[in-house]
Amino acid sequence: MAGNPRVGVLALQGDVREHARVLSGLGAEVCLVRRPEELATVDGLVLPGGESSVIDKLARAFGMRQPICDAIAAGLPVYGTCAGLILLADRITDGIDGQQTFGGLDVTVRRNAFGSQVDSFETDLAVPVLGEAPVHAVFIRAPLVEQVGDGVEVLARLDAGGVVAVRAGALIGSAFHPEVTGEHRFHELFLDTVRAV
Ligand code: GLN
Repeated sequence: MAGNPRVGVLALQGDVREHARVLSGLGAEVCLVRRPEELATVDGLVLPGGESSVIDKLARAFGMRQPICDAIAAGLPVYGTCAGLILLADRITDGIDGQQTFGGLDVTVRRNAFGSQVDSFETDLAVPVLGEAPVHAVFIRAPLVEQVGDGVEVLARLDAGGVVAVRAGALIGSAFHPEVTGEHRFHELFLDTVRAV
């Protein structure tokens, strides 16, 4: 792909602006996506952190669910953080009644795996695919990847062993929020993926 990739941020709920800022800073042309026509114009999509059950409901109400599922199935690169990771998971535990995901990542993700808001925490993580410097990771009512299917690469684990970042094909998910700490390497990895497709 020549030039700067055009990347969407799903803008139904969540920390849309933080992602948009990081992506523009890295040279991407950013489009806030709320409608199928907007989705059709982007080379990659970010699913922000927020509340996965709300994003799920709004996506259905706005007629975005099926277009997003179809785009993922067609190979659109997608990076999901926190609630975005939940939305990318093929299977979730502890979802609210009737909660659906877009799916695409062959993983099982547990919502709110670390407890409630007060159990949010920060830690430094080794993420070998991003180089030697650790990633400072902020977990906010974060999910945990409980089961990983064949073909899913684990990018990061907590010291206790829990999986908190994964990749499969053009899909990347992290349980934490690089967009709020000045950490840009996950977004760079995502933009490399967008350029390579
Ligand atoms: N607990 C939220 C959910 O279930 C995710 C929190 C976040 O994105 N920071 O969607």
